[in-house]
Amino acid sequence: MDNKTQKTSETRIFEKLSILSDAAKYDVSCSSSGSKRKNENKGLGDTTGMGICHSYTEDGRCVSLLKILLTNYCIFDCAYCVSRKSNDVKRAAFTIEEVVDLTMNFYKRNYIEGLFLSSGIFKDADFTMERLVTIAKKLRQEHKFNGYIHLKTIPGASQELMNEAGLYADRLSVNIEMPTESSLKLLAPEKNFKDVMEPMSYLSQSLVVYREEKKHIKSTPSFMPAGQSTQMVIGATPETDKDIMYMANSLYKSYNLKRVYYSGYIPIREHEVMPGIGTPPPLIREHRLYQTDWLMRFYGFSVNEILDEKHPSLDVAIDPKLSWALRNMHLFPLDINTADYAKILRVPGIGVGSANKIVAARRFGKLDWSQLQKIGISMNKARYFITCSFRDLSMIEISADKIRNKLLTASQSKFKSAYSPQLTLF
Ligand code: SF4
Repeated sequence: MDNKTQKTSETRIFEKLSILSDAAKYDVSCSSSGSKRKNENKGLGDTTGMGICHSYTEDGRCVSLLKILLTNYCIFDCAYCVSRKSNDVKRAAFTIEEVVDLTMNFYKRNYIEGLFLSSGIFKDADFTMERLVTIAKKLRQEHKFNGYIHLKTIPGASQELMNEAGLYADRLSVNIEMPTESSLKLLAPEKNFKDVMEPMSYLSQSLVVYREEKKHIKSTPSFMPAGQSTQMVIGATPETDKDIMYMANSLYKSYNLKRVYYSGYIPIREHEVMPGIGTPPPLIREHRLYQTDWLMRFYGFSVNEILDEKHPSLDVAIDPKLSWALRNMHLFPLDINTADYAKILRVPGIGVGSANKIVAARRFGKLDWSQLQKIGISMNKARYFITCSFRDLSMIEISADKIRNKLLTASQSKFKSAYSPQLTLF
């Protein structure tokens, strides 16, 4: 290849990278750093590495991933998606070799530790899925690539391809996209719930089969070692937080998912049922849903303790654990020196780490306020819900409403000082 041809080919790859990494940013199954700082004064490094985002592995390590679409062409017309066929955007598609080369080049330069690959659907589900699988297979077998690979599966692809994908990828995601079947039907009429649920079920069963087999036959290949995840777009349709979290709960239970991601809808078009352009994405709501998800997975809460018929929406002003505690004041105050671990975990202001430290520390004697502060619990919240040695921290006479107001006022004043303009001398 002469110099001119090579330059043209590099420019084209760069252009594709720009289009297909930009289109991939709407997938939150692995979160993007979102930083755009440029190196303008010959300093060290910059953050403009297109398509590079950060995600977390099973053991909590943060890894940088090349996050791209194979193509943003799509035969479908899902109303909430920028890649939908009716959208007038610049289209591009990588070849299999281009994705493999980009991944290997970025990896060798230490830019990334893995690949997150998603795609629009060209031709049909199997045709597209086959290409995703081939990329992963080439990376693993021809290039001996041992980095992290997360593939988005294509709804409707065959079980054989799903199975093959699980042999090369660390994680697979099957995106449910809408929290209810009726919303999916409304906004993505060519898709159906069956095409999402069946692969999820197939992958979770295969995972069990491979794991069992590995116990007896050591040479059994590992299958999707980082498990499967899914994503729900929230705020595009009128589902309540209860609808969303009950669906997430059922997915965790039925398909043993590693993660459900909640992606606040960013209005990209005018549509009769979706919020209009300019409506801010529901970021606080998204945050409260993640907190609720966390409470279900790590704090022993069942979903119906947090959301029910009487409380179908999360309180956006306060976190869901505090909201639950204020509705259950009859369970407090809790004696921190005698309560069991599961109950301590439910105290607002006490996280998993602090609860472990409390249980370990109280073996050596009764804990008092100052020791609890040293452990690092958030006393401004916890003080209304606990008692401890030497000093009764509870304020049982205070009503739930008053506690809520006090905490809200305190948090607002904290904000105020952080954002108040600096005094000037002149
Ligand atoms: S199938 Fe996927 S890529 Fe295609 S329009 Fe729907 S959400 Fe977008």
